[in-house]
Amino acid sequence: MPGLEEVMQTVDKSDTARLLEWAQGWLKEERGHYIDGAWLYEGAAESIPSIDPGTGRRLCEIRQAGNREIDAAVAAARKAFADRRWRSMPRRERSRLLMSIADLIREHSAELAALEALDNGKLFKEAINDDLPEAADVFDYYAGWTDKHYSECSPQDEGFINYTVHEPLGVCALIVPWNFPLLLAMWKIAPALAMGNTVVVKPSPFTSLSILRFFELLHEKIDNLPEGVINLVTGGAETGRLLCEHMGVDKVSFTGSTATGKAVVASSAASNLKQVSLELGGKSPNIVFDDVPDLDFAIERSYAAMFSHKGEKCSEPTRLFVHRKIHDQFVARLVDIASGVKCGAQFDESADQGSQCNQEQFDKIMRYIEIGKSEGGRIVVGGERDTRGENGRGLFVRPTIFTDVDNRMKVSRDEIFGPVLVVIPFASDDEVIEMANDSIYGLAAGLWTRDVSRAHTVAGRLDAGMVFINRFGCYDFASPFGGFKQSGWGKEMAVHSLAAYTRLKSVWLKL
Ligand code: NAD
Repeated sequence: MPGLEEVMQTVDKSDTARLLEWAQGWLKEERGHYIDGAWLYEGAAESIPSIDPGTGRRLCEIRQAGNREIDAAVAAARKAFADRRWRSMPRRERSRLLMSIADLIREHSAELAALEALDNGKLFKEAINDDLPEAADVFDYYAGWTDKHYSECSPQDEGFINYTVHEPLGVCALIVPWNFPLLLAMWKIAPALAMGNTVVVKPSPFTSLSILRFFELLHEKIDNLPEGVINLVTGGAETGRLLCEHMGVDKVSFTGSTATGKAVVASSAASNLKQVSLELGGKSPNIVFDDVPDLDFAIERSYAAMFSHKGEKCSEPTRLFVHRKIHDQFVARLVDIASGVKCGAQFDESADQGSQCNQEQFDKIMRYIEIGKSEGGRIVVGGERDTRGENGRGLFVRPTIFTDVDNRMKVSRDEIFGPVLVVIPFASDDEVIEMANDSIYGLAAGLWTRDVSRAHTVAGRLDAGMVFINRFGCYDFASPFGGFKQSGWGKEMAVHSLAAYTRLKSVWLKL
């Protein structure tokens, strides 16, 4: 099917009526798995409905890949790896091809963002402004690495040479969640391909639309991508489990919940001890000291980092620790912002917060709001479903803030993955560091202070893979992304993603 850009060259990216019209047509077509350079429609009849969480409307059916489809996808990736059609492509050619994928995403960003918003529930403006530019740029970034991942030559006694080689790992299964469906898949696909691997991608069944469209675009527009290098199987937990158990897969790169991450490790280890990278859950602390340099900015940023993308972000600062001296003022200002928020469906330009992604997630959030209340927490804003206007048909949750909670309560310990914040006062640095670290997670942490010495001391004592000083949430392809403890194994981004998709060989020569 022609993309929106071909249909109407002049369409404005904000012309949502036209975008939706295009999407309605697209949704009517049958979708399959993409294996060995072709769409596969036959096979397991099982499918999972894809729902628009903003309205409850059924969008289409997502096929569930079973053994047969997974075997075919892994075999195609294996063949494309073994015959070296991809890894032996000249580096510059491979690099140009990756850059052409970046351009492809840019050219089609409106339709990709529209599909992303439709099944995820996030606002179209969030998808097009936050997710799509990064999804394209990450291909440019890793295209630049194809000739820069240097090896070492170790110092040896006379008569010997020893050097190392970064080799691609082989067939990589890339399993992604529903919160940033396209972006998180691209974070994995770009470095995996740059290093010469072949891949099988599995999106979440809740949010497969944008990735399906991405594969269609690859198929239609990228001529020199060899068959079998990049494959797509759709489906849910069972499809993911089969991939992790598959003897033909060399590596699983997984982003999702900590519970599923443990299952991924178990099945990967029990089959062929395949390598595993994990980006998992979080319950990140955000510490505001009483010498915060810019109180207004700290309030605005703490709110935005927590509640944007309707609180469905792994690294969001869900535990806010505010110094007693400024606690009440800080909370009052957050309540003001939250009270003025308009929840609305994906294409409502005036909305500030979209709908939660799926019924399961919505129910979980509402359950945690009840748990927080029963534990003695006080809701100072929100705490309920938003049913204003048309919202009654969708999965909208008002931004919710709990006070009178402590760090031991379930609402402060468990990852809720929705717009629910707990605020806890503190008096001393030692006290707050102890509370911040008292978590099974260690993804990110933030702190706000004008004291440079305190900033570095506290950053050094926090058990978190990423620490943000005076601005929560700074991300860049050049900086490692990933957590400690039960938030994951390994890092993504920068050279770390290259390490995750290569194996290191040591070669000796006796002269
Ligand atoms: P999830 O763990 O339920 O699912 C993630 C993916 O794994 C989906 O594609 C799912 O179909 C698949 N899956 C489910 N069971 C499987 C199994 N047994 N074996 C293999 N694959 C299986 O996660 P979710 O609900 O889609 O996403 C939300 C979670 O993701 C949150 O916990 C969030 O913190 C986490 N997350 C982490 C990061 C990070 O970078 N650390 C980023 C985004 C999301």
